[in-house]
Amino acid sequence: MTDSSAPPLTLRYAAHTDRGLVRGENLDAAWAGDGLLAVADGFGPPSPNGLVSASALQAMAAAPAPQPGALLDGLRLAAQRAADAVRALTTSDSALSGAGTTLTALAWSGSELALVHVGDSRAYLLRNGDLLQLTHDDTLVQGMIDKGELTEHEAARHPQRAILTRALHGGDIVEPSVLPQYDPSPGDRYLLCSDGLHTVLHPVVLRDTLMRHQDPNGVVGELIALVRRAGAPDNVAIVVADVLPPRR
Ligand code: MG
Repeated sequence: MTDSSAPPLTLRYAAHTDRGLVRGENLDAAWAGDGLLAVADGFGPPSPNGLVSASALQAMAAAPAPQPGALLDGLRLAAQRAADAVRALTTSDSALSGAGTTLTALAWSGSELALVHVGDSRAYLLRNGDLLQLTHDDTLVQGMIDKGELTEHEAARHPQRAILTRALHGGDIVEPSVLPQYDPSPGDRYLLCSDGLHTVLHPVVLRDTLMRHQDPNGVVGELIALVRRAGAPDNVAIVVADVLPPRR
C-alpha cells in the first residue's frame, strides 16, 4: 500500500546510449525525463536513429501522467501506447517488417515508483551494497533455466541466448509486465540497461561500479568505458537513477 502522506520522490539520474565497437548502427534508445526513465533495445532491420526503440519511449513519455495513487494503471496505459506505436510503425512500413524492441521503464509519481518490462533489457536495484535483478528476462534460455534444463553458466554461452520470447513488435499483441511496486528508499540506486551491458559485464563489476561513484553520470561514463574495453559487441543503453532523501 502507498502512504499518501509520504513526501514526493525526487530522483537524480543520468542516461546514455552507445553504438559500441562492432554494430554499424545504434538501435538502442534511452529516455530520462520527469517521472519516466527507460531503455529499449531495437531489433530487426536497421532503422535510422533507432526509430523503433525511440518511438516506443517517446510514446510512453507522451502518455498522460499517472494520477497520484494510480501509478500502475498509468504505467499500463503508457506501456500500451508504446506497444501501439511499435505496431503502427512496423506494420505501416514494409522496410521495418520484423522489427521490434524490448522495453524496460521505471516511472514514479508522488511517493510511488514502479517498473514495466518486456524483453531482455534489465532493471537492477542497488540497496545496502547488494545488487538485485528486478526483471526476469523474456528469453528462450531464461525459460530453460526456469525449467531446470540449463544453468546460468550454460545459458551465457548458448547459441540461442539472444532469442526473445516476448517483445514489442508488429506480430501477436504483447502486454509488457507491470512489476509489483518496490518501496523506494533514499539511497536506493537503480540501473536500467540493455543486454549490451549485462551480457558483457559480470554482476559483480556492475555492483562495484555502481558503488564507486557518487554521481550517476560517473557510473554511466565508467560502465560505457568498461564495455568498450571489453570489445562492446552490441549497442548499449544505460540509465542510472538515485532516490534522494525528501526535501525539507
Ligand atoms: Mg542488444
